[in-house]
Amino acid sequence: MSMRVAVVGSGPSGMYAADALLDHGVSVDVIDQLPVPFGLVRYGVAPDHESIRSVRDTLDQIWDRPGIRFLGNVTVGKDVSVEELRAGYHAVVLTYGASADRRLGIDGEDLSGSVAATDLVAWYTGHPDYRGPDFDALLPSVRRVAVVGVGNVAVDVVRVLSKSVSELAQTDMPDHVLSTLARAPIEHVHLLGRRGPVQASFTTKELRELGELEEAEIRVDPADLNLDPVSASEIAENKVATRNLKVMQEWCERPARPDAQRTIEVAFFRRPTTIHGVDHVTGLDVERTHLDLEGQLTGTGQVEELPVDLVVRSVGYRGTAMPGVPFDPDRNVIPNRDGRVMEGDHAIHGLYVAGWIKRGPTGIIGTNKKCAVGTVASLMADIEEGILTPQEEVAGIDEVLRARGVRSIGSSGWRSVDAQERARGENQGRPRVTIHERDELMAIGAG
Ligand SMILES: Cc1cc2nc3c(=O)[nH]c(=O)nc-3n(C[C@H](O)[C@H](O)[C@H](O)COP(=O)(O)OP(=O)(O)OC[C@H]3O[C@@H](n4cnc5c(N)ncnc54)[C@H](O)[C@@H]3O)c2cc1C
Repeated sequence: MSMRVAVVGSGPSGMYAADALLDHGVSVDVIDQLPVPFGLVRYGVAPDHESIRSVRDTLDQIWDRPGIRFLGNVTVGKDVSVEELRAGYHAVVLTYGASADRRLGIDGEDLSGSVAATDLVAWYTGHPDYRGPDFDALLPSVRRVAVVGVGNVAVDVVRVLSKSVSELAQTDMPDHVLSTLARAPIEHVHLLGRRGPVQASFTTKELRELGELEEAEIRVDPADLNLDPVSASEIAENKVATRNLKVMQEWCERPARPDAQRTIEVAFFRRPTTIHGVDHVTGLDVERTHLDLEGQLTGTGQVEELPVDLVVRSVGYRGTAMPGVPFDPDRNVIPNRDGRVMEGDHAIHGLYVAGWIKRGPTGIIGTNKKCAVGTVASLMADIEEGILTPQEEVAGIDEVLRARGVRSIGSSGWRSVDAQERARGENQGRPRVTIHERDELMAIGAG
């Protein structure tokens, strides 16, 4: 009997794990809760980064390999349990990502107009399960925005909110998103970091783009770029920070742009302390901070209120537990050794992990390839040892899903959606138009 493995999640780590397993002659079922594959490549990577989004074309070719199936619209932990998968397959690889958001933990965070970047990103990429704030109602009255956080996701959010209609018109965003963004009267976007420019985690290419937008002027306070002793010693070892600093120093020397429709203001050493508003956000208090000689962040007590109508927190993604699987609540990952899921000191028979839920939300798409290949190497070593067998003879997953009335979508269903999205895009001179309603995805996928 050929070896059969279930991969839970069709993001990059799941697809790279499947590809590596196929290389070893193992049959793979890739299971995803969504009717369409590729995880954050579709529902995270910014729609205006078409070249990065085109990674999905490379991932898509994996469906053409013999021995792989896609089971979309199947939620593990609800429609089928990990225990059931372990019983029916020789092994299970968990690659279900880390999609929950982190909070700031300050007053006013639950006001309307205080949102998580995870929500804004899910909305503008057309995630079919998006149930967050009603941005179509919210954004047409937003003039001033504060984005809290200085990673690449924060930069994506600032860029998407600051781009002109014509810059966004080339993307694959759903129609309603494009039309809402075109109506948003945004004039000013603050990008706020608690620490300094050297500690920011954005990369230079993404940062530089903020200074190249059609209608937006970029500003940064030159005083924020004067390095304290801790930052000065850190930057000597940090090439990305050195390049970032150079980009921002060049911004400081730029003349004002009287033609600009909006301003992006990058500010460091600002810690949000309170979000103001009665039933909607009207302002954000930020306290000036500095780094002491030990590199500890310290408040100065100097507080300034920024008048804003939207606060977007972009302070990280985090993994969540899967029923029946060990979880490390401090690191929000599944404890593992070389990809083998660990319960205390013991590896759980036939259970593996890769991607963000293995190592946390860090790295670029390519990082997941190395990570998944590493996990598959452990799995193959266990096959060599002869220790992987299905635990018992049980009904196959198709039978289980049928009995529970769960309709799964295969790769041919996804290809129908893909063709439909491309056709709609062609009509509008765009690469594709993302279909965002689950029912419609299901109807096209099943049809
Ligand atoms: C906003 C944003 C922008 C990014 N931009 C870039 C970029 O420009 N360039 C870059 O290199 N990297 C970027 N990244 C990082 C990149 O997207 C991640 O490294 C990568 O997607 C992580 O892969 P993953 O497979 O571990 O998780 P994911 O991509 O999250 O995939 C997890 C999959 O598991 C599925 N799933 C979850 N729970 C279940 C369940 N219970 N049952 C079944 N299926 C389930 C999900 O639907 C999803 O398809 C970005 C990330 C974010 C959040």
